[in-house]
Amino acid sequence: MVRVSYPYEAPVSQTLFDRAAAVTPGGVNSPVRAFRAVGGTPRFMVSGNGPYLTDADGREYVDLVCSWGPMILGHSHPEVIEAVQAAVSRGTSFGTPGEGEVALAEEIVARVAPVEQVRLVSSGTEATMSAIRLARGFTGRAKVVKFAGCYHGHVDALLAAAGSGLATFALPDTPGVTGAQAGDTIVLPYNDLEAVRAAFRAHPGEIACVITEASPGNMGVVPPLPGFNQGLKDACAADGALYISDEVMTGFRTSRAGWYGVDGVAPDLMTFGKVMGGGFPAAAFGGRADVMGHLAPVGPVYQAGTLSGNPVATAAGLAQLRLLDDAAYTRLDAVSEQIRTLVTDALTKEGVVHTLQNASNMFSVFFTGEDVRHYEDAKTQESYRFNAFFHSMLAQGVYLPPSSFESWFVSTAHDDRAVQRIADALPAAARAAAEATAV
Ligand SMILES: *Cc1c(COP(=O)(O)O)cnc(C)c1O
Repeated sequence: MVRVSYPYEAPVSQTLFDRAAAVTPGGVNSPVRAFRAVGGTPRFMVSGNGPYLTDADGREYVDLVCSWGPMILGHSHPEVIEAVQAAVSRGTSFGTPGEGEVALAEEIVARVAPVEQVRLVSSGTEATMSAIRLARGFTGRAKVVKFAGCYHGHVDALLAAAGSGLATFALPDTPGVTGAQAGDTIVLPYNDLEAVRAAFRAHPGEIACVITEASPGNMGVVPPLPGFNQGLKDACAADGALYISDEVMTGFRTSRAGWYGVDGVAPDLMTFGKVMGGGFPAAAFGGRADVMGHLAPVGPVYQAGTLSGNPVATAAGLAQLRLLDDAAYTRLDAVSEQIRTLVTDALTKEGVVHTLQNASNMFSVFFTGEDVRHYEDAKTQESYRFNAFFHSMLAQGVYLPPSSFESWFVSTAHDDRAVQRIADALPAAARAAAEATAV
């Protein structure tokens, strides 16, 4: 195998990666971390402080991944760390109810009007899996509509993104998901309301729910067209199906009340994760009280978790949410806009064709000249330009998501100094993107 050489080395990370690969498939515990899309050695991080990460080789980076969203106040925020330390000192898990989980649930209910009741879980995957089970249990129906390019965690029934075109029944995306598990999943093109209406016409009374990312960030940032989410809600209501908005990424990030706070379309059920855990495994699903009332122990739909509502995780999440006031969102939006402008100016200056899309402070760059409205559009981009851009930024100390199909994330800790370091790195990265050739 030819080893691609990069203009800089990360010897300690490489040694750790070799050790990791011996004991863990691909050397990672979540595939995107392996840098397969961009090549090179994944950086093993040892510490984070504000907008910066430091890797095992002692190199510092401005972090534009923020743990894929959760670190919205930056790394090691003193008040979050303090809340965690206080919680840890009281014990780490009791397997009983506790006040922290009540307070976190109250905070979520207070922020997001459509959430009348909420249940805490430990990952976004668990949240969407449970929400779908509940929708099926509540409606007594089997079929689930999802959109190509939307990611809802590695839930069997939702790992079917294959097949664009109208109302194609999904083939599983991965071995290990059986036809039976994916066979009730209908995958439709995103931002295509006509396809949704056609699916309801073809399967009247059979669709339990439509699940969508509130504003997708897992095919790059592809916001819903005006009226799309409302159209989903209306189509569901007309047929007696539930509208599930997956806000695991957008929740408490795109506004105080997530994407719901931006478009105001009230879902029947919602899912949360990432920001609400403050860097710990905490997630949730919630919504209409009459639907949530179908969950055990009050209702027949079973759902449970040994570490659900963990006192350390809930303390971290609550501390973080309480710090996320209006001023914090104003700050996030401003720094996001600043960086977006720098990126687009640098690329334009080098004549690199690109489209920069954002959903409030979430954004991503597509190396294509067209608006990206769904997954098929996203796939037309020249990803090889992103890879050159990524490696140039990395070499200059800016850590971007290692794939062109991911959102970039900012934090309230991204100050002028961090932004300046991004600005300083951009001209060379834009040149690298301009000079890149398809392999
Ligand atoms: C990250 C994500 C998930 C999965 O959450 P995990 O905590 O990784 O299981 C689900 N839905 C969306 C929209 C996400 O961005």
